[in-house]
This record gives sequence, C-alpha cells and structure tokens, in this order.
Amino acid sequence: MGRVDVRRKYVESVGLGFALRQAFEVGTDAESLRRCHVPLMIEKLARRCSLGEGIAEGRGKLYNFVFRCRVALREMEHDKLETVNHCIRGAAQQAAASGGLRTSLIERFLRTGEETWDGAGSGRFTLAQLNDDEVYTGATKTALRTLFRLLADLLPAEAQEVPQVGLETIRASIGPMVKGLVERDWQEVALRELTARTFVLNFQGAQAAVDAELSTCFMGTAWQILWALFGDYGLKPEEINVECDGVSAGDFAHVRLSAYETKDPYSDVIVHESAHLLHYLKPEHYGLHVRRGQERFVDVEFCHRELFAFECEAYSRVVRHDKRKSRISFAEEMKERAFSFPRDRIEEVAALVLNAARARNGWRVIREATVIPRVRGRAREFPTYP
Ligand SMILES: [Zn+2]
Repeated sequence: MGRVDVRRKYVESVGLGFALRQAFEVGTDAESLRRCHVPLMIEKLARRCSLGEGIAEGRGKLYNFVFRCRVALREMEHDKLETVNHCIRGAAQQAAASGGLRTSLIERFLRTGEETWDGAGSGRFTLAQLNDDEVYTGATKTALRTLFRLLADLLPAEAQEVPQVGLETIRASIGPMVKGLVERDWQEVALRELTARTFVLNFQGAQAAVDAELSTCFMGTAWQILWALFGDYGLKPEEINVECDGVSAGDFAHVRLSAYETKDPYSDVIVHESAHLLHYLKPEHYGLHVRRGQERFVDVEFCHRELFAFECEAYSRVVRHDKRKSRISFAEEMKERAFSFPRDRIEEVAALVLNAARARNGWRVIREATVIPRVRGRAREFPTYP
C-alpha cells in the first residue's frame, strides 16, 4: 500500500468524526503522531466542509473552519519533523555517551551518511586512528539501530504489520531472467542467492535489510535503507537526500517500497535490482565450477550495467505475455507507455526491448548487447599493465 493509500484507508477506517477531533487535539507525543497521517484527511474534511456537509452555520464560519484545518495540518507536519529531529539527536547522544564519543560526529552520519571521524575512509592511518574508526563505527551502527526503532514508533501500526514480501514472489519475478541469462549449472544457486539477497523496503523488509547490511563492514547502505523507508512515510527531514528507487551495492539488493508499488506496466524494480547482483556476485564463492575468464554470474560490461538492469526489468515484463504477437505489440508501446524509466534513456532501452521481443531468444539479444564478449574456445585475454 502506498503512502497515500495508507492515509486514505486510515481516514475511511477511523471516520470523519474522529479525524475532526484529531485535527484539533493532536499532541506531539509518539502516540498522537503515529496516528496523524493527515494531509488527505484534512483535504477530505475541507471538501466535505465546502459541500456544506454537517456544517449548518454561515459561510464565514465554514471558511474559518477550513482555514483552521489547514493550519492544524501544517503544525502537525512541523511537529512530526521536530520529533524526527529529536529522534536523530537522541539516538546519537545515547550511542556517544556509552563510549565517551563526540555526539556531533555520530549525528552527522545519521543525517548525511558521511563518516567524518578520525581513521574513516581510505588512506594511511596510525593505529590510534584505526582504533578510533572501529569504536566510532560500532557506536554509529548502534545509533542507526536505535534511530530505526525510534522512528518505527512513529509509523502507523498497520504499516508495521505488513509482512515482508515473500521469497516466492521474488523468486517468481526473477526466475525468467535467471533462466535466460545464467549458465544452466549455475541457475539453481543464482536463483537461491538472488532471492535471499533481495529485499523490498516495507517496514519489515527494511528491518531485515538493515540487519543484513550491518552484518557487513559498511554502513552507507543501511543508512540509505533507513531514510528510503521513512521517507516513504513522510518522516524524513527534507535536507536528507535519498533519491533512488533501489540500492544494490554488492552483497544485497534493496527495492524502495514506492518503486515496488509503481503502476508502470514495464517496470519491475525487483528484477532491476537483482539483475545488478548478477554482475556483482561470483559463482566461485558458492563452490561452482568456473572456467577461465569467467568471473561473475553474468560478466556485464561496466559501462552497460545500468542498461542491462533496465533491459532485464522491462523484458521480464514482456515475457509475461504468452504469444509472440502480443509480446511484440507490448514492446512496441513501451516508448510511449513506460513512465518510470529515466527520460534520457527510454529510447535506447525500449529499442533493445523491442529487438529482444522480436527475436527467438530475447535474453540472448540482451546478453549480446551488454555482456563482455568472450573469445570462443579460449580464455578471454586481459590486458597486462607493467
Ligand atoms: Zn540500476
């Protein structure tokens, strides 16, 4: 369910009477904030008011009423963000206090994703700096978990109850791609790994994804996941920037809830993000037999990785159509009908999708356009540098 749908459902379920009371009596405690997913509620209230429903008094009073609703809405949004800021500070303070660390450095990470303490990043460090880095990294991971918990308390209960998108759903989405692109004797392992490593960021999915990411040594992706999730619920301060539909940085792939719910008939962000895993993960790590020159499940040219993911995404949609004819006509309409792809790439993406739809084996067309060519019967030669 999208943010707007949650709100709509909320208004319908609590009824206007309650919504009305709430518009004027909301507090800033966690309980009140959890309940106030309001813009739509107020809009609806205002519309009802202007229709005159339930308001028997004069026009002046009516407008006054609508105005007060709007003010209440703005105040509530403001209070909500105030509370979010309070949560950020609280999480940083708590984590810093236990090790005598600087709150400002941890808070800075929570707000920007930047690690600015001594010894962070790359370079040559002293032992003391390396120790510093370890201590700050540990504390910051704790702070991220605390912040996640605090912000979760502000979500409507129903958002927290939605279960994680199931493994079967993910498996079904990526099945055709894996079959079409991965060598036969690697397919089962690829399917298993991609399924287990792909998360859709509803609340429960994000919780699992943050755990998975924090078990690695990097924190940046966990940070992105946190704000992608709470951003979808209007709980992200504006200055925090996470403008993406998904994140796949190597070990795991994450799909933003709002992207997962898009109505674009050519989009499947689960496929897009797990396609990136195909060119990250190495079959030899899973005990599979690898021939010389092979490195990843699919060795995509570095410069074609994004095109590859878009192709997998859209072509997975094409192959849902049984008949060749309807596949082609569906692909032909992509340029006009697909709306969630970047405008500057749609021509290129749609043209290749159409070529694939026309071919006997469309996956092969995608492969040929994006994968590093291998010399037949001989290992690919790598350039040698002195
Ligand atoms: Zn991508």
